Amino acid sequence: MRETIDMPKSKFVRVICKKCKNEQTVFNKASTLVKCLKCDVDLVIPTGGEVFVNGKVAQVLQ
Ligand SMILES: [Zn+2]
Repeated sequence: MRETIDMPKSKFVRVICKKCKNEQTVFNKASTLVKCLKCDVDLVIPTGGEVFVNGKVAQVLQ
């Protein structure tokens, strides 16, 4: 299941890979695809503004 992050400002979020449970810090306005460092699954998919997170958002870093 994909979760949309919709926030007014750019932030870093901690995302847990749904496949291997690896936790990774990503930019919520990423313009390029971010892959999981462990299992190489697509973790953050840019859509031209907001991003789709292919996993669980653990924490939003202020
Ligand atoms: Zn993974």
